[in-house]
Amino acid sequence: MKPLLITIDGPAGAGKTTVSRALADRLGFRYIDTGALYRAVALQALAAGVDSQDDPGLEALCARLALRFERLADGVHLLANGEDISGRIRTPEVTMKASAVSARPVVRQFLLKVQKDLGREKSAVFEGRDMGTVVFPDADVKFFLNASTEARAQRRFAELSDDAGQTLDDVTRDMRKRDKDDSSRNLAPLKPAPDAMRIDSTRLSIEAVLEIMLARIEKVG
Ligand code: C5P
Repeated sequence: MKPLLITIDGPAGAGKTTVSRALADRLGFRYIDTGALYRAVALQALAAGVDSQDDPGLEALCARLALRFERLADGVHLLANGEDISGRIRTPEVTMKASAVSARPVVRQFLLKVQKDLGREKSAVFEGRDMGTVVFPDADVKFFLNASTEARAQRRFAELSDDAGQTLDDVTRDMRKRDKDDSSRNLAPLKPAPDAMRIDSTRLSIEAVLEIMLARIEKVG
């Protein structure tokens, strides 16, 4: 397989993470979870008490933030200023803050550069919201993965541990808000790139989605 840059965009719970990881494994490519980068900014903002609307505060925070992924035996970890934050970025609080800070131009500008640097070497699967539209408009293969709100909320709920303290209704409500905010923001809204292949995973297994993607990639690669 020649070096390709593959993008997978879509809303929360569409199956992006599972599919992106599996696809990267199959192809021997790197897997880059760009949502984790927004979560890292959110975590730092929460820790420093920086409001999501406070652009100068966010800008200063980003200027001090060095982010890198590191592959360890149990998977890929995210390091912020050398500290492994992977275990702390999946809480409901960080999730909602990530969506809020991701609407701020200063944050998107900062992470645009981080992501472009990560994409300099090809042979990677980038998962996010604006990979095929804004960050890598020239990507070799683009996918937009979606599923019904009900299916996505069910999947997210099933992934949560009991101590998250969220009901299915809480998860559905947060997801609807996040979908609305992510899709309606002015900057890099969630939408399919015109040249992205759209896949609805509501009634498809992971394996079936993978087969569809691999067939498409084979045509290009
Ligand atoms: O994918 P994940 O749910 O971890 O993303 C967290 C949040 O980060 C999303 O709700 C979205 O607002 C933001 N995000 C983004 N652009 C990306 C990836 C994530 O705006 N490329």
